[in-house]
Amino acid sequence: MEAMIKIYCRDHHRSGATICAECQALLDYATVRLERCRFGESKPTCAKCPVHCYQRTRREQVKVVMRQAGPRMLWEHPVMSLRHWLDGFRAAPEV
Ligand code: SF4
Ligand SMILES: [Zn+2]
Repeated sequence: MEAMIKIYCRDHHRSGATICAECQALLDYATVRLERCRFGESKPTCAKCPVHCYQRTRREQVKVVMRQAGPRMLWEHPVMSLRHWLDGFRAAPEV
């Protein structure tokens, strides 16, 4: 998530080495959600999650970031992308 937000911010907000305040707030939010994720170790990818713990507006923001930065991730972080893609095959746990 962090790598994706960094790419998005760099390309869309023209930020330098650090990300802008707005993107930082989104990253902080996603980090807290992740820490509190009820699935812990067996966490599905959030896109496949049956719970979707994100607030509506945050979820929309994440979607935009993924749409824009997703394709770039493949080139800039191929291993990370592959891992996440493989994680996507794991079935979400029962809630
Ligand atoms: S959306 Fe689902 S998988 Fe993602 S952090 Fe929230 S509860 Fe966990
Ligand atoms: Zn930004």
